[in-house]
Amino acid sequence: MTDLRVISTDGSDKILEEVVVQGFADSLRGRLACPGDDGYDAARKVWNGMIDRHPALIARCAGPADVIAAVRFAREHGLLVSVKGGGHNITGNAVCEGGLMIDLSPMKSVRVDPVGRTARAEAGLTWGEYNRETQAFGLASTGGVVATTGIAGLTLGGGLGWLHGKHGLSCDNLLSADIVTADGQLLTVSANQHPDLFWGLRGGGGNFGVVTSFEYQVHPVGPVLAGMVVHPMKRAMEVLRFYRDFCRNCPDEMVAAGALMTSADGDPIAVIVAAYIGDLAAGEKAMASLRKFGPPLADTIAPTSYVALNTLFDAAFPYGGVQRYWKSSFLKELGDDVLDTMISRSAKFLSPMSNVLFFHLHGAAARVDRDATAFGLRDDQWDYDVISQWTDTAESAGHVQWTREFWTAVEPFASGQVYVNHLDAEEGTTRIKAAYSHGYEKLVALKNVPDEPEHQTDGVSSISLAPLAGRGPG
Ligand SMILES: Cc1cc2nc3c(=O)[nH]c(=O)nc-3n(C[C@H](O)[C@H](O)[C@H](O)COP(=O)(O)OP(=O)(O)OC[C@H]3O[C@@H](n4cnc5c(N)ncnc54)[C@H](O)[C@@H]3O)c2cc1C
Repeated sequence: MTDLRVISTDGSDKILEEVVVQGFADSLRGRLACPGDDGYDAARKVWNGMIDRHPALIARCAGPADVIAAVRFAREHGLLVSVKGGGHNITGNAVCEGGLMIDLSPMKSVRVDPVGRTARAEAGLTWGEYNRETQAFGLASTGGVVATTGIAGLTLGGGLGWLHGKHGLSCDNLLSADIVTADGQLLTVSANQHPDLFWGLRGGGGNFGVVTSFEYQVHPVGPVLAGMVVHPMKRAMEVLRFYRDFCRNCPDEMVAAGALMTSADGDPIAVIVAAYIGDLAAGEKAMASLRKFGPPLADTIAPTSYVALNTLFDAAFPYGGVQRYWKSSFLKELGDDVLDTMISRSAKFLSPMSNVLFFHLHGAAARVDRDATAFGLRDDQWDYDVISQWTDTAESAGHVQWTREFWTAVEPFASGQVYVNHLDAEEGTTRIKAAYSHGYEKLVALKNVPDEPEHQTDGVSSISLAPLAGRGPG
């Protein structure tokens, strides 16, 4: 180890002496990884292969004490900080260039209480890992539809998933969280403890500190009826009209996604993926029209486990390596005009890995009072994402431009709202406000206004976390 050049919060360079870095390394139970160290490159890798940043220091945290040590070290030396959960965010905000990355991914313990129907989960877990533990008891809480997505970033931004129609968003199932605030103190926040901060954590992103663990309400789930029906792209208009009407009439137990994409054989296809979370016979009835329509080229709908359901999209979105750019908005209506715009542009995908996805937000997730959590976009509507994926870095500019043009053509039909977890790296304040609507001002106030006096240090608010990376206000 030698003296280390690091980036500070104001963007300037500073040198950390070897003895200081070694002292920090010795204070951790986990490992401190610097450029060239074993595991450094694996730790800085995130889902989006376009992100290739090199933190000066990666604190591979083994537990909350390491997170406290890392936040205090960053504060003492004024370091630029980023926080990594599952590393799935399209922006790559989990990794900073030249600063300290607080890597939570080694923190993976889960404790399920099957009697109280709660699960306490550390912030480095992915949904695949969390589901495996909760499903051992036949339980689950709403999580992401891809197994490798982190529970942390997804929950802090809201959390759409196959269970949200029946049980609300991931953040609606959050009972409490342990969070290390900017002054390096660990607080437990819940409806009764620091309720404003708890409100902000449920949709406000990683703005308020480093969450070390989440306590979720869990529900009996599974087996489920789920799978996809596949149609040729030439029938995409009929398929998406059907999908629109199907979503409008589906019960809380059903959540359905639509996709325009390319099959493994290279054929352009329109797909509906649906999951019924409840009695299998009732699910068969609710799925009947979907399976009959067309008829489809392929129908994989069958009883399956909740764990398997949450791997259905995994092959389409492999972790790392692939270059990605996406844009997203909410659509309140899937009218023929917007469908026509999307279908005609989807006929010209630049890569067979690219796709357009629709995910229907409804049911319990849409009935929560919009003021109850920072995630306030509680309308029955579709999150849509135009997702470009490619491997040749020389082609990046073309894919980015194609994606932007697609999104710009669709935007006149959009609701003016966007899911914070789907914002891309270049979005400005207007779009961040669109992710919060009425809650934006309250979030800014929460981020900037001092917390209770006993949680302040040196007159600085414990929750004013400007250096900590994350999407959202401020
Ligand atoms: C393939 C794919 C599938 C997806 N599917 C879904 C889905 O089904 N439903 C859905 O709602 N969203 C989905 N998303 C979006 C997803 O919610 C976001 O990408 C989310 O940010 C991922 O969280 P993460 O922990 O993996 O990401 P990271 O990139 O590690 O973190 C995301 C942000 O949160 C901050 N952060 C992470 N952990 C903490 C923490 N413990 N404390 C404070 N801040 C923290 C980070 O600093 C960063 O700014 C998907 C994304 C991808 C790429």
